[in-house]
Amino acid sequence: PSEFRGKHVTVAGLGVSGVPAARVLHGLGAHVTVVNDGDDERARAQAADLEKLGVTVRLGAGSAAGLPEGTELIVTAPGWKPDKPLFTAAREAGVPVWGDVELAWRLRGLDGRPAAPWLAVTGTNGKTTTVQMLASILGAAGLRTAAVGNIGVSLLDAVTGDEEYDVLAVELSSYQLHWASSLRAHSAAVLNLAPDHLDWHGSMEAYAADKGRIYEGNRVACVYNVADKATENLVREADVEEGCRAVGFTLGTPAPGQLGVVEGILVDRAFVEDRQKNAQELAEISDVNPPAPHNIANALAAAGLARAFGVSAAAVRDGLRAFTPDAHRIAHVADVDGVAYVDDSKATNTHATEASLAAYESIVWIAGGLAKGATFDELVAGAAKRLRGAVLIGADRALIREALARHAPQVPVVDLDRTDTGAMLQAVQEAQRLARPGDTVLLAPACASMDMFTNYNKRGDAFAEAVRELGA
Ligand code: ADP
Repeated sequence: PSEFRGKHVTVAGLGVSGVPAARVLHGLGAHVTVVNDGDDERARAQAADLEKLGVTVRLGAGSAAGLPEGTELIVTAPGWKPDKPLFTAAREAGVPVWGDVELAWRLRGLDGRPAAPWLAVTGTNGKTTTVQMLASILGAAGLRTAAVGNIGVSLLDAVTGDEEYDVLAVELSSYQLHWASSLRAHSAAVLNLAPDHLDWHGSMEAYAADKGRIYEGNRVACVYNVADKATENLVREADVEEGCRAVGFTLGTPAPGQLGVVEGILVDRAFVEDRQKNAQELAEISDVNPPAPHNIANALAAAGLARAFGVSAAAVRDGLRAFTPDAHRIAHVADVDGVAYVDDSKATNTHATEASLAAYESIVWIAGGLAKGATFDELVAGAAKRLRGAVLIGADRALIREALARHAPQVPVVDLDRTDTGAMLQAVQEAQRLARPGDTVLLAPACASMDMFTNYNKRGDAFAEAVRELGA
């Protein structure tokens, strides 16, 4: 009999985490009520399915309403903002609020099944890539594993499904960490920290504090980025198990206790098996795909976590070689008339965009969308010399236009005041007009996509489609 039997649980939000959470909790004997803000067709269909099982669903104004009668626990979709009236009411009533990660963590080892340890990854950028590299490495070591999170297996499926795992490579967002107070990873990495989602968290300090939760209670290693002091500070502030080590990764020569790069070789000076040696060679830079600086950093972080779990150097190399990046992450779409067209639609914030703008010499930059509270001065000032031109799209494009006027007044800018489905095609045509042979037309929006597209995948697809029309 689980602790959930007979318990009154309110699930906040239908959707990718809410629907499976409601099902699992109902299956464990809880009395489940789902509250949801939207009341559209999709929500109604999801509600109808849950109601058939015996779950109560309230559509519309879920977050604004008070606590449903008798609620003992809230399980929330991670994206729900902490200042919603529902959560204020919960705090006042002393009702705990868990996110999807907290729920999954508490359900590990359900029904006496083995509870696989978690190797966890967060950071402003590179999470998905790093987790996939890590899963590839763990797989190459013969371990039963999965990349869990945004892409691939859902966390709840991984802990409650039929598949058994030796270890999980888990991607965690700052939202998820905010709502996950008892999570204790085997080892964890924070890849980098740059302002993002500040409108949600309220401040940079609150955002960093939420990310820092990933280190709480770590047993073996807290992996941090030597070049990003903020990540090291989070390790220092974390309350970890005795013997847990701080392990830095760097693109430079590693100090003892770190992973880094020496003459084109990724080396490990943190987990060296052979006492005669002071460094263990892991792989060559060319084993990393693509071998761009930010991605080598991702590979080092993945390697650090794998090594903390006891994986051999050979498996790190084999796993990196076997890895191929996902779509919309600096993906080369086509060359048209000597101009390269590159889709980095996944660059949804300035930090990611900075990494991709740094990778090319002469760029026609397609940018814009929802800025999420970001400012663009630093980004534009840093890239000004490499910009041939810019084409701006989306709701917050004026912010980028103004930053360009301040820091790159010589750069020609096309400002597209349309958000219909044809907008991306026109953006690509304008970019083609600005580009010279040898240039790169780079979609790296530095913004979220939801003002014009369902998600960044759709935005990237629209770009690729438009490029194909140019070539046709
Ligand atoms: P996340 O899951 O954190 O969003 P992804 O691996 O999907 O990260 O990559 C997101 C974006 O960030 C891509 O545009 C990619 O080019 C860029 N990126 C990946 N790794 C890094 C990094 N370590 N530093 C900066 N930017 C990165």
